[in-house]
Amino acid sequence: MTLGSVPSKFKVSIDRDQCMDCGRCIENCSYGVYRREGDKILIESRKCTGCLRCVAMCPRDAITLTEKPIDYRSHPLWTREVREDIIKQARSGKIILSGMGNARDLPVVYDRLLLDACQVTNPSIDPLREPMELRTYIGKKPSKLNFRKTESGDVELETKLAPNLKLNTPIMIGHMSFGAISLNAQLSMAKAVTELGTYMGTGEGGLHRDLYPYQDHMVVQVASGRFGVNIDYLERGAAIEIKIGQGAKPGIGGHLPGEKVNEEVSRTRMIPVGSDAISPAPHHDIYSIEDLVQLIRSLKEATEWKKPVFVKIAAVHNVAPIAAGIARSSADAVVIDGFRGGTGAAPKVFRDNVGIPIEVAIASVDQKLREQGVRNEISIIASGGIRSSADLAKSIALGADAVNIGTAALVALGCRVCGNCYRNLCPWGIATQRPELVSRLDPERGAVQVSNLIKGWTYELSELMGAAGINSIESLRGNRDRLRGYMLDEEMLKILDVLPAGA
Ligand code: SF4
Ligand code: SF4
Repeated sequence: MTLGSVPSKFKVSIDRDQCMDCGRCIENCSYGVYRREGDKILIESRKCTGCLRCVAMCPRDAITLTEKPIDYRSHPLWTREVREDIIKQARSGKIILSGMGNARDLPVVYDRLLLDACQVTNPSIDPLREPMELRTYIGKKPSKLNFRKTESGDVELETKLAPNLKLNTPIMIGHMSFGAISLNAQLSMAKAVTELGTYMGTGEGGLHRDLYPYQDHMVVQVASGRFGVNIDYLERGAAIEIKIGQGAKPGIGGHLPGEKVNEEVSRTRMIPVGSDAISPAPHHDIYSIEDLVQLIRSLKEATEWKKPVFVKIAAVHNVAPIAAGIARSSADAVVIDGFRGGTGAAPKVFRDNVGIPIEVAIASVDQKLREQGVRNEISIIASGGIRSSADLAKSIALGADAVNIGTAALVALGCRVCGNCYRNLCPWGIATQRPELVSRLDPERGAVQVSNLIKGWTYELSELMGAAGINSIESLRGNRDRLRGYMLDEEMLKILDVLPAGA
């Protein structure tokens, strides 16, 4: 290793007895790991990101990837990662960027929470034979309903109901913007949510016209850069989300590199081709809850009070009082994004060190809203590292109304979590705008994959609820009695308001 060169993360090798010299690895690797020299395919392992495209495309299973070859001796304090970052920064003098979610090996609270099941004295419910109610309404709920008698003697509802989003399953897809991800990735997800009767977010990149047919299932985002925001955009969305913060990078704005801003992205975001799209850290018109109220009301006024408005925040230390303020701000839902949340590009130091886990954020926010008597004023949407139907069920039992998934949907589309989304070279056609790479992702096929994932989780959620003797999502929400903590300390159990296993 020469001075300033970064040690390689992977060792790539080809079994030359298996290889038929078809060249697909060269064609498929957008990072330039393979090249032909004479009649030989040469490998530059140092360039490998672990995207595994070559492994998937090799017709002879001839390629092997080994993680972390030893480029230098191990050390418990000066770990490989620490040294790698120092080498990178000594070379570049820049902030280290990273994609995807927090990559630190920290305990995941979800994995230390266990769900309950009925035995003998309380019968479980078989979801194959009995109806399960998974329909979820996102938005304000009235504390009580008033009815009045009409002159004809009929009874009609007097209480004015706030606009709600109706979800057939409590799983939505979070905001991943056009620009950060490809149009084919967005189209895949839009088709899936439309088919399933749920919703996805546009991200802060505007709404591409090819997504107009799915607009009734899109939540349009207003972020600090206001990219793509105009009245047409607001009117097209089923709901509007004001993004204040993101779990992967709390406290800072967004950055879409200029190389990802092609003609289409430029038109949709309303920015010049090739220019970096930099969203400021704060909204320059929001410095208090009162300012937030003004923006929410302006958005509602602009859309004739017909659409719910969400506010998305990163899960930070005082998330509960902040959410309580948002509940009083006339917002209809608070979206809380935990510190394992994904990103197209974030400074690695933020991604891996700032914020708190979504599990504790849900519990403390739900608790605070109940204590203050405003839980009905607002729905809680949780995101940031939801990996399975078990995480979904536990999130709802902790107090969420629904979850947003992000990385899980991308994995369904082929993403291998290589963390290089910000380089515009995603070989799976997801986090790239290069036409030759984008065309690798077929939106029809992608939609089936995403839809299958959400269906599978929904079936599993029904089974988990049935096993616990619960036939309505309403009865699972905030039902922490059906959770037990395993290998969690007393303080954490207290914050989660969950008993230890065995109690
Ligand atoms: S894709 Fe596989 S078979 Fe084809 S050249 Fe590469 S290693 Fe050989
Ligand atoms: S979207 Fe593409 S670049 Fe990003 S982590 Fe997944 S495979 Fe890698």
